[in-house]
This record gives sequence, C-alpha cells and structure tokens, in this order.
Amino acid sequence: MAKASANTELCKGCRLCVDACPKQAIIPLETVNKKGYEIISIDQGKCIGCGICYKMCPDYVFTVE
Ligand code: SF4
Ligand code: SF4
Repeated sequence: MAKASANTELCKGCRLCVDACPKQAIIPLETVNKKGYEIISIDQGKCIGCGICYKMCPDYVFTVE
C-alpha cells in the first residue's frame, strides 16, 4: 500500500496535517528542524497513503507513493 513520507526540513510547524490525517498517523513532535520549526513524524503503521496530508500541507512536506 502507498505510504506518505515527509521532508521535515520544509515543515513550518503549522500542524494543519495533524488534524487532517484521518488515521491519526501524523504525530506532532517537539523536535525542531534547521529553520527552528517543530516538525511532525508519520506513523507508517497507521498511514493508508490517502494523500490528504499531501494536499493539505502548504509547504510541500509530504510525498505519497
Ligand atoms: S501541514 Fe506541512 S508545514 Fe504544517 S505541520 Fe504539517 S508538515 Fe509541517
Ligand atoms: S497519507 Fe493519509 S493516512 Fe497517511 S499520513 Fe497522510 S493523511 Fe495520514
């Protein structure tokens, strides 16, 4: 099944994706990227590859293959 991956260096920490994911597969972290924004992590065990995060993220963090 397709899964999402994330380039978290592009993340701006808006957290829009966290609520948008229908499977609660996107976990907000306190870890920051090089730009100082708090990033997210994808729980690959929960992700169904629906692509909602890809459409939702304003900063093109996600890739779904
Ligand atoms: S929607 Fe994009 S920029 Fe916003 S927290 Fe999620 S991955 Fe980061
Ligand atoms: S592809 Fe769908 S299920 Fe997977 S992390 Fe993105 S929104 Fe969640």
